[in-house]
Amino acid sequence: MNFKILVLVLLCLINLYKLWESRLERKSFGNPIPDNVSDVYDTVTYLRWKQYSREKSSLRIVHSLAGFVLSFLLILFNAYSAVENVLGTGIYPALLSVTLFETLAGWLVDIPFEWYDTMKIEEKYGFNRSSSRTFAADQVKHLMIGCLISCGLACMLAAFHGWLGAWLPLVFACVLFLIVLFITFLYPFFSRIFNKFTPLEDGELKDRLTSLLTKNGYKVRAIQVMDASRRSSKSNAYFTGFGKMKTIVLYDTLVSTMTTDEICAVFAHEMGHGINKDTTKGQAITILQMLVIACLAYLTVSCGEIYSDFGFEGVNYGFAMILVGIEMSVITPLFGMLTSWISRRHEYRADRHAVKEGYGAALISGLKKLSRGNFANLAPSPVIVKLEYSHPTLSQRIAAIEKAMKE
Ligand SMILES: [Zn+2]
Repeated sequence: MNFKILVLVLLCLINLYKLWESRLERKSFGNPIPDNVSDVYDTVTYLRWKQYSREKSSLRIVHSLAGFVLSFLLILFNAYSAVENVLGTGIYPALLSVTLFETLAGWLVDIPFEWYDTMKIEEKYGFNRSSSRTFAADQVKHLMIGCLISCGLACMLAAFHGWLGAWLPLVFACVLFLIVLFITFLYPFFSRIFNKFTPLEDGELKDRLTSLLTKNGYKVRAIQVMDASRRSSKSNAYFTGFGKMKTIVLYDTLVSTMTTDEICAVFAHEMGHGINKDTTKGQAITILQMLVIACLAYLTVSCGEIYSDFGFEGVNYGFAMILVGIEMSVITPLFGMLTSWISRRHEYRADRHAVKEGYGAALISGLKKLSRGNFANLAPSPVIVKLEYSHPTLSQRIAAIEKAMKE
């Protein structure tokens, strides 16, 4: 069997799947808006939303096609084995040459699309706040973090394969999971590379949020406001960190557009996630996912014979990671279905927590404001919702909140 043909066929299948999803998404732009969210957009805004969504979706399709064509050609013409010895011979220079080449090529293809998305589409609809300077700095930071992670993983795979043999999947899975934990733990520090955080100012809002926390016996290290408005007018709030390091982050865009009641409602929802330990539960699936990746990585580096089909003389660990990435994109939709189903259940429960705190009505108006401000799809394709939505649709959430308020 020629493995190159197999990989090229896989790439085509992955791309066809993405196109099918985009088709479903585009069809949903004509769906009737459910009654309980009919007041989110007025007629003019609704038409603007449709136009915006079509432009975003077209860009995504072309972007993903460009990525597909690049991967297809690089593999077809054995480009990876051609650059293998650029940094010298030996296992590590060879894997670094391939990994850096892949990361850089992907980055270069992404830049024009990211630029068009931020500077043209988001700008045209008034969401963009990034200056060209912030945009360029972000891209450079992304490239550096990308190179560090991909080279680190490929080096680790090579080192572990030599030391551990058949124990590789288990140990590699543990290491991957530790990296995920580490990133979650250090997320507050990482996010400082991109944004500035300031403690929430004293005043009514802080007092009410603090009393919500103490009432529930819930401790956080700080409530911080993030300068999200540097990049976009879209808003959000989230929890980060573990144990005593837990921090609640509010986007400055959220603080400036919502009423105190609405912010408390969103906050009570986030606290619901914290009290129910939703992140910890999500991590159980992450462990499973890491184990699958580690097993695939082991199988991929153990079949030394496949590499000759791509022009290599033996195993190249950098190229192995690229193959694992392709294998993962076949499996990811399955994991996506499971994780997004669990996540949607968590969202309903966190909403119920906000209702329990007496913020049902404020949560509804807050969520409507968020959807309006973020230009959300009010009637997405039910298939796409099942496949990948981490949150139920606004209409589903409001129906569930109203039901909980009656109980
Ligand atoms: Zn949530």
